[in-house]
Amino acid sequence: MSRAEEISRGLAEVRRRIADAAAAAGRSADELTLVVVTKRFPVDDIVALSQLGVTDIGENRDQEACVKVADIPGEVREQLTVHFVGQLQTNKAASVASYADTVHSVDRGRLVTALDRAAERRDRPLDVLVQVCLDPQPGRGGAMPDEVPAVADAVVGASHLRLRGLMAVAPLGEDPAAAFARLVTVGERLRAEHPDAGWLSAGMSGDIEAAVAAGATHLRVGTAILGSRPPLG
Ligand SMILES: *Cc1c(COP(=O)(O)O)cnc(C)c1O
Repeated sequence: MSRAEEISRGLAEVRRRIADAAAAAGRSADELTLVVVTKRFPVDDIVALSQLGVTDIGENRDQEACVKVADIPGEVREQLTVHFVGQLQTNKAASVASYADTVHSVDRGRLVTALDRAAERRDRPLDVLVQVCLDPQPGRGGAMPDEVPAVADAVVGASHLRLRGLMAVAPLGEDPAAAFARLVTVGERLRAEHPDAGWLSAGMSGDIEAAVAAGATHLRVGTAILGSRPPLG
C-alpha cells in the first residue's frame, strides 16, 4: 500500500468514527473540525492530507513546525489552517505567531503578552484557545480551572488576539468522559463572560467518541490517521 493510500484509509476510518459519534450524540458532523496532528510527519503527508480534503493541521513543537510550515507549497498552505497545540515557551511566541493561525495552548498571562506583541506583525488577529489542565496536579501544561477566567480576560484585553474557546487533553488513566465533563463546566462559565468563545478543542485518537459526546468542536487526531509517530528527530 502506498503512503497516500495508508493516509486515505486512516482518514476515512477517523471520519467514520466522527460521523458515528456525532450521530450517536444527535449532533451534525458539520459542527466538528478535524485537526490532523502532523507532528513528526513530513510535509509530503500534509500535502496528501490536503488532497484528501483536510483543511486543518496541528503541530506541537516550534522548532519542527516553523521549518515544515515554510516548506508547504504555497497553493496548499493557502487552503490550510495551522493550529499550534503544544506547550509553548514565551521565547517561541514570536515564531509561532508568524506561521500559526490558531494557538490552542495559551495558559498564562506572560504568554498572552508575548503572543500579543508578536501578533502585531500579522495582517489578522491570532486565534487563541486557553488550555485547561484537567489533571488534579498542575505542571503538564494548561491553566488550572480557577485560573482560566484571568487568562481569558488577558486574551480579550490583548489587541491582536481573538479568544475562541478552550483546549484540554484528557489525563492518562482517567475516564475521558469524566474529564471532558469538567472541561464543559469551565467552558460554560467562560461563555457566560465571553459568548463568542465557544470552541472546545478536545479529543485525540483514543477518545474521539467521548469528546464528541461531551460537545467538542475541534478534534486533534494524529496516530489514528497517520500511524505511529517516528521518534523525535
Ligand atoms: C500529539 C497530540 C495530539 C494527537 O494525539 P494522537 O493520540 O496521536 O491522536 C493531540 N493533541 C496534542 C496536544 C498533541 O500533542
